[in-house]
Amino acid sequence: MTIHIPTIFLIIIATAGTLTLSVGSVTRAKEHKELLLWTIGLALHTLVYVLFFLRGQAPEFISVLVANTALSASYSFFTAAIGEFLHRQIFKVVLVGPPLVLAIIFSFLMDDISARIIVSGLVFSSQCAWVLSFLMNRKRIVSGRGKYLVVAGLTVIIVVLSARILSVMIKPNDISSMLHQTPIQVATFFGAFMSLILMSNGFVLMIKERADEHILQMAMKDRLTGVWNRVRLEEEAPQEIARLERYGHPTSLLMVDLDHFKQVNDQYGHATGDLVLKEFCAVVQSCIRTTDILARWGGEEFVVLLPNSGFVNAAPLAERIRAAVEKHEFPYGLRVTASIGLAICQPSDSWSSWLDRADQALYRAKSTGRNRVEVENAPTEFDTSKTNIVQLVWRPAYESGNAVIDTQHRALLEHSNILLQAILDNREKSEISQLVDCLISDIEQHFKDEEAIFQKAGYSDCKHHIELHEKLIDRARRLSDHFFNGQVRDSELLHFIMYEMVTQHILIEDRKYFSML
Ligand code: GH3
Ligand code: MG
Ligand code: MG
Repeated sequence: MTIHIPTIFLIIIATAGTLTLSVGSVTRAKEHKELLLWTIGLALHTLVYVLFFLRGQAPEFISVLVANTALSASYSFFTAAIGEFLHRQIFKVVLVGPPLVLAIIFSFLMDDISARIIVSGLVFSSQCAWVLSFLMNRKRIVSGRGKYLVVAGLTVIIVVLSARILSVMIKPNDISSMLHQTPIQVATFFGAFMSLILMSNGFVLMIKERADEHILQMAMKDRLTGVWNRVRLEEEAPQEIARLERYGHPTSLLMVDLDHFKQVNDQYGHATGDLVLKEFCAVVQSCIRTTDILARWGGEEFVVLLPNSGFVNAAPLAERIRAAVEKHEFPYGLRVTASIGLAICQPSDSWSSWLDRADQALYRAKSTGRNRVEVENAPTEFDTSKTNIVQLVWRPAYESGNAVIDTQHRALLEHSNILLQAILDNREKSEISQLVDCLISDIEQHFKDEEAIFQKAGYSDCKHHIELHEKLIDRARRLSDHFFNGQVRDSELLHFIMYEMVTQHILIEDRKYFSML
């Protein structure tokens, strides 16, 4: 079978022309500058192949020099379109340089087709390689699959052009004219055809995917404040619960409600109230990490989801938010405070029970005077006079009545506080590791003594309780090793030891057998 090169040119003219018309017809120049640039690139591509098709009939100057310069310009327009899409400025030299260089060199090589193939191949493939690396470097900010089609299109053209350069270098006289029908010529122009389709489809898909993402984001944002709405929260929270269940990553929830906000509206008007809400969100955003999710739950009530944050991170953060709101001067010199309920997710929690607990904590914060942080289900005292300092505090309710158990429980609380302080003071890792290992050994010893005591007292659930002890010690040792190897952050380790082992287990689970003593 023979494949006629001018026939391939005709197919490319028909394809590029159709793409120009179809992409151009949906382009609104003001809104879609990137599509406009791409359309110009496509129109130039069409023109180039018309000129190639006329090789031998039109003057050489036009079908060789002008055509190749226009092809390089066409790639520059594609590059500019991608730069525009990514909102990245591309230096003019990258866009204007290649066509200019090609035109100048070609004007000296009008009689040497082999040299022209090498020069044009090098210029076009460098232009494509530049776009390829530009796109790959920014792959994180371009989501979706469209970009892979563009990447595939660029790769195809680079490969065929490189093969064509190699073949000319190996056999300089193999291609005697542009229309010469050799396997490498057929492969090159077929490659150019495939590449054009892949790149154009890919680029249009990139734009569509970004528009879809934008619409999705808008559907999950609150119109007034620009923060997330509950749709996003309800999507994210179950994933955090699953992460806690599967990997043990702690996660917390803050429910934040502005105090006496109705009075702000009543005294200053609804418009000022709106301004306060917007600014309040900005204050909260400035306190949280980019991975935390601030969402408007409704009215003047907000929720902050804190992935990878247990009690140790979340409690000081809640206090920071409360203090920042209190300190902030809102429009017209207004002062506003907020009450915050914090609930650390439990493995047994569903989304609604978790939210419910945060709401209960918020209710407590409101009923105990407002402008406060209350922690749900944490037998800790939260000292707001010294910001960022959270300590486990012994309460008489923790007494078991057994002197050995109570003394050990007290000591473990104190050791935990020493460890917390060391972490807050940013002490050396080796020192923290040593404290952790000592604390785990103390806990292990305590578990053994305690097991002997409740077995002797005839506690019915002792088998299950002993199993729990084993699991806790095992996990603590693994986390401690991971911490030492840098695989786990100090806050994660601390959350497990202070919250799950000491607070949750020793102070809550243990109470089940206290009545036996
Ligand atoms: P508390 O300290 O008990 O929370 O008192 P509060 O006045 O803040 O609470 P309440 O629930 O009684 O009132 C909430 C007010 O928030 C009533 C409503 O007018 C106002 N509000 C809710 N959404 C908006 C909004 O989008 N814009 C404005 N300006 N006000 C809002
Ligand atoms: Mg309120
Ligand atoms: Mg409210």
